[in-house]
Amino acid sequence: MLSEREINFSYDYRMRCENCPASNLLSAESYHSLSGTGVTTCSSCGHDFNFGPRVIDVRDPEDEALDASKIPQLFWYHTTTDPEWPQALWELPEKELRHLRRTAQWPEEEIERHRRIYENQALHVGTYEAAIESMLRRINEQGDRGSVFYLYRVRLRTDLRIAPNWRDENQEQAAKITRMDLAAEEWDGLRYLNAYESMGSISLALVRTAIESTQRIRLPISGQVGPPSDALMANIRSYRQRVQDIRATSADRPPSALDELRRRAAERQGTTLHTPFPPEIHVVLKEMEDYLSDQYLAEVSPVVRSDFLRAVGRPTAMSDDEAYGKWLKEFRDMAILLTRAGDVLKALDDQPLQEVGTG
Ligand SMILES: [Zn+2]
Repeated sequence: MLSEREINFSYDYRMRCENCPASNLLSAESYHSLSGTGVTTCSSCGHDFNFGPRVIDVRDPEDEALDASKIPQLFWYHTTTDPEWPQALWELPEKELRHLRRTAQWPEEEIERHRRIYENQALHVGTYEAAIESMLRRINEQGDRGSVFYLYRVRLRTDLRIAPNWRDENQEQAAKITRMDLAAEEWDGLRYLNAYESMGSISLALVRTAIESTQRIRLPISGQVGPPSDALMANIRSYRQRVQDIRATSADRPPSALDELRRRAAERQGTTLHTPFPPEIHVVLKEMEDYLSDQYLAEVSPVVRSDFLRAVGRPTAMSDDEAYGKWLKEFRDMAILLTRAGDVLKALDDQPLQEVGTG
């Protein structure tokens, strides 16, 4: 019987002191308010040290994944835009190959090395939180907004050979581990401490044959939330009305001296100047976003919340009714992944097991 670890997005962090071996608890609130880096005082030696991803420690000292023998008894997760993950064959896309040859003009042996690493990269799985946060990051950083994502739940083979010690992603690279690296040590997988996704959690780099089977759902799962309440809709309408009112008043306002300078500069360059919207509009839009966050992401830590908000985006000064409606739906559907993981797991339970086997 496989076990599911507790899922929550309200976790805090542990940071290693730079002066002594102590591990210090740092709340998500402190981490967020100091934008991920800053100075804190060690609870053990009393010296100040710089915290951040660079000194991240295992955030849950009781994590079952710290015991190598327990790895196959846990469920693991992965998000990707690939509907047939994990693919048996993994080829460097022709487009990238052309780019490396023609545009980047890499020497042929360099391309060959890159191809070999790419086509033999290990598979990565992690906690449910790490999988969801990885998707949010991809939407933010890799331009995957609008892509269809899938959430995979992974069962591992019971006779896995897992490297006895876990790696610290800060000290040894984990993202580029290949099948050859693992095979050289006769391992099916190794554990590493995440310094990026869901910082402080343990992820695995695996060979494909380490995976016994998967279950898959398309994200976000829809049909799980009922229509928003009348009160919520009335509030959103009033935010939107305030945006429109500011736009109307600012259109009537005579241009300032700075506006006039900008207009003339644009004219000289032969471009048309788009008048920037008054900053008050952004204040209202931000207020609206905070309001919705309080409604739907109450138990999510401010760090994860901020990743979520960047991924979902928000309406702009120009958005029409349809754009507001779309945003609201996406916000609510995506929030379920963070706040109602139990329902997401139930949806996974209903999916057939896809054998991965030895292919
Ligand atoms: Zn210390």
